[in-house]
Amino acid sequence: MTPELGATQIVIELLYLVASVLFILSLKWMSSPTTARHGIWAGEIGMVLAIGGTLLNHGMSYHLIAIGLVLGTIIGVPLGRVAMTAVPQRTALSHAFGALCVTLVGSAEFYLRSPDISPFMMSVLSLEVILGGLTVTGSLMAAGKLQEILPQRPLTYKGQNLVNFLLLAGALVIAVTLVLHPGSRSLFPFMILIALAFGVLLIIPIGGADMPTVISLLNGYAGLSAAAMGFVLNSKLLIIAGALDGSSGLILSIIMSKAMNRSFTNVLFGAFGQVQAAAAGGEEAKPVRSATPEEAAAILSAANRVIVVPGYGMAVAQAQHKVRELYDALTKRGVDVRFAIHPVAGRMPGHMNVLLAEADIPYDRLIEMDEINGDFPQTDVALVIGANDVTNPAARTDTTSPIYGMPILDVDKAHTVMVIKRSMNPGFAGIDNPLYYLDNTLMLFGDAKAFVGSIVRELAGGHG
Ligand code: NDP
Repeated sequence: MTPELGATQIVIELLYLVASVLFILSLKWMSSPTTARHGIWAGEIGMVLAIGGTLLNHGMSYHLIAIGLVLGTIIGVPLGRVAMTAVPQRTALSHAFGALCVTLVGSAEFYLRSPDISPFMMSVLSLEVILGGLTVTGSLMAAGKLQEILPQRPLTYKGQNLVNFLLLAGALVIAVTLVLHPGSRSLFPFMILIALAFGVLLIIPIGGADMPTVISLLNGYAGLSAAAMGFVLNSKLLIIAGALDGSSGLILSIIMSKAMNRSFTNVLFGAFGQVQAAAAGGEEAKPVRSATPEEAAAILSAANRVIVVPGYGMAVAQAQHKVRELYDALTKRGVDVRFAIHPVAGRMPGHMNVLLAEADIPYDRLIEMDEINGDFPQTDVALVIGANDVTNPAARTDTTSPIYGMPILDVDKAHTVMVIKRSMNPGFAGIDNPLYYLDNTLMLFGDAKAFVGSIVRELAGGHG
């Protein structure tokens, strides 16, 4: 190695080291809303350094890279400009692209090196392309379901799990054969084809509403396949980044499953959407009490303590800025207003935090479920805005409910509960909510943004 190449190598290693540290800090900072912005910056700078370091490597074909960069930018920029509610499917597409890259690199490495591949390297390479392949099609299916291009309901048939198991076993048998005979080049495409088919079949029996959890799991698979690619390419940075990505994806899906009181296997193999369809039908109409914006404004302004419970409906209605106006109006009147954040409110982890932060609601007013639940009995008004399942008391009492055991926000314990939603329609779990029929509950029927706006106008004395 010439001294010049040696110096370049040192610079590359240093860039990779700093990038690795930034990736770790990025994940750490993203775990709290107060530091999340730093986390994003750390991740972005880390990625720029990682790409910069890679470009310094000897023998790069810069013109091909430039073409890739232009194409990637053309595809990437519009992908980044989606509505907040479409972020899960957009994330799924990113995983599909990442996994496609991993699978293609793995295939190229196999054909470049075969038959001179050690058993260890061949095992890692097989893991890389199997995980990569199933993540490509699995993520595309997940994105399609969330975008409603594909049917959201679980598509099931008899013996489905056995078929899936046999497919996976088939891919593993090929992998073992290749470890023993790395020169069997014709077998390699079959391993990838099976992985691609497995990705489709693994996702179709899962209901659309479980997709965010599945996407997080696929994120884990994509990370693990990237870490495997790190071993194949002898890149410590890829091993570190892949391991961080893989473990955080897996941990996140475990957290989400726990918050819904569902086991991992239930999410993956439970065909949850079918339970919803069955539970939704046949409900007889029960009486509920409703109120107007004027009445709601009067009750809120007479309160000392208010807890706002945002949910998916607030996100759909994009009501967060009106909610901020309500927060300002009530705070000005001396009302103590806090926000109760359920870990799976909305449709993606941290959904409510992101929306409320976007509306500049102070972070110290956002209180996690475990911390705030004990305060509902001393609260005058619990104002539920487009949340449903995360407030359903059936989760505490009804052992037959599909959400039985899911930790919920105990809004029913507040002196008065007011619920803003458009109708009596159920939420994600497709089940009725007994909260709406309680004596201390008032339904505020309407679109979240419009209704909160009307309350704010009433509080301002009917002007503006
Ligand atoms: P839900 O889906 O239970 O309820 C949302 C409610 O919002 C609906 O009942 C709907 O009623 C109402 N709504 C919809 N649009 C509007 C609007 N424009 N204005 C006012 N209200 C509206 O949401 P939650 O946040 O309570 O619970 C989240 C659910 O999603 C949980 O069951 C959770 O398990 C699940 N989930 C969450 C994930 C996450 O990571 N956060 C991931 C996967 C699943 P109506 O139609 O009558 O207006």
